[in-house]
This record gives sequence, C-alpha cells and structure tokens, in this order.
Amino acid sequence: MPKTVLITGSTSGIGLAAAKSFAAKGYNIVFNGLEENGADIAAQVAKEFDIDYFFSPANLLHPEAIREMADEALTKFGSIEVAVNNAGIQYVAPLEDFPDDKWNDIIGVILTGAYHVTKAVWPGMKAKKFGRVINLASAHGLVASAYKSAYVSAKHGLIGFTKTLALEGAAFGITVNAVCPGYVHTPIIERQIPDQMKTHQMTREEVIDKIMLKEHAIKAFIPADAVAETILFLADSAAAATITGVALPIDAGWTAH
Ligand code: NAD
Repeated sequence: MPKTVLITGSTSGIGLAAAKSFAAKGYNIVFNGLEENGADIAAQVAKEFDIDYFFSPANLLHPEAIREMADEALTKFGSIEVAVNNAGIQYVAPLEDFPDDKWNDIIGVILTGAYHVTKAVWPGMKAKKFGRVINLASAHGLVASAYKSAYVSAKHGLIGFTKTLALEGAAFGITVNAVCPGYVHTPIIERQIPDQMKTHQMTREEVIDKIMLKEHAIKAFIPADAVAETILFLADSAAAATITGVALPIDAGWTAH
C-alpha cells in the first residue's frame, strides 16, 4: 500500500519539487495550491510518475476548506502519513507602511494554515502510530531581515509550532521537523524582486547580489530539488525516525555567521 503525502502549495516552486520527489517514491499525493492551472499541474505529475492523486484548491486562509481537503483525501486514500506545510506568501515593506491585510494573510497562510492542516491530519497519525510532519520554515525562521516583519514572525512561529508538536507526537510515532532554506529561485522570490528594488532603490541584479545572496556563504541560490530531497529524507528514511523537533538549515551557510 503506498503512503499518502499532503503537500500544501504543491502546484509551484518547492512544493511542486517535493511532490515530484514523493511521486518518484510511489506516494499518493494530495496536491494543493492557488495556481489557476493547479489541476493540470497535478495531473501531469501524476501521469509522469504513474501515481494516484487528488488536487484541492483549498485556500489555507479558510479552516473549513482545509478540513474538507483533509476529509476528502482521507476518504479517497484511507490515511495521510505525511503532511508538508509548504504554502507561503511574502510581502516586503517597512513597518509603518506594512498593510494590515498583508500581515494577517502572511500569518494566516504560513502559521495558522499549518496549524489547521496539522490538526486535520493529526488524529489519523496518532491512531496509526505513525506520522511525519515537515514544515517549510526558512532561514528567516532563525534570523531576521529588515522589512519582512510578518514573514519573519510567521516563520519563527512555525519553528515554535514544530518544536511543540515534536513533543506532543513523540509517544505516537509522529516526528515533526522544520526545514529552513535560504534563497531558492522560485516564483515567490521572483515576485519580491520588484518590491525589493523599490524599497532599496536598487536594480534587479543589485537586489539578487547585494540582498538575496549577500548572506549566502556559497554564492548561489539553493536548488528547489535539494529542499525537496531533504523533505523526503525527513519523511521517508529510517535514518530520520529519531530526528524530531529540529529546524534544519539548507541555507548555503547563511545562518553560520
Ligand atoms: P511559490 O510562490 O512558488 O509557491 C507557494 C505556493 O503556496 C503556491 O503553490 C501557492 O499557490 C501556495 N499558496 C499561497 N497562498 C496560499 C493559500 N492561501 N492557500 C493555498 N495555497 C497557497 O513559493 P516557494 O518558493 O515554492 O515557497 C514554498 C515555501 O517555501 C513557502 O512557505 C516559502 O516561504 C518557503 N521558503 C521559500 C524560500 C525561497 O527562497 N523560495 C526560502 C525559504 C522558505
């Protein structure tokens, strides 16, 4: 029986790369995301890897939509062994200009969304005495950058959530970990380049070199596949069975200094 993984935000970027890594291992996949062509993206991956899947366009800002997604997935597959809380959004502005709705949405998707998704899959994992929860935090879950108050707060919060659930899940065979990438060149990064150009009065190249890769000791973006394979390692390897409650940097040396 293949295991089932639910990955939020899996129709783009890191989540999509993770979906492909799990698909290559034969997992059933619950895809989720707000991309207009999300259903097509999910169908393509399922076809390429010959796996069973389900796509939900649930907006993580709506807890009832999250519960419906989890319920439908449980009805279809019987169990969800792995949950990857990956969906995220970003907004870059100084505090005094930070729009309140952006604050609420960022905390809502990254932190409260992960709370509701995990809560929906948790009873099944406990009953099965097996579960793997991987939260996409960020180097910004460990250190801050100016003008990202909501994102840095949400990611720090997500690491706190990770540690708390590692303790609650331990007696039930559930591990809960966070991964903390540096800059990965995905649409979320592409979208923030114009904001950064405006905020810092810089060209595109200057934003990439002087802001994004500035803190990477290795001066390169992190490949999305590298994050995906690390997620798979935490979810699927025997070696990771006693790794829980960690916030693992994949950050080209950013948080080493
Ligand atoms: P992305 O923009 O390519 O993907 C984000 C995904 O989240 C998309 O599928 C989007 O539809 C989904 N999403 C956003 N809001 C949603 C909502 N309300 N409901 C449901 N889905 C929603 O970005 P990415 O770079 O792949 O980011 C994935 C995760 O990795 C995010 O949590 C991000 O913060 C984190 N991260 C990214 C980087 C990076 O450099 N790209 C670095 C560290 C951490």
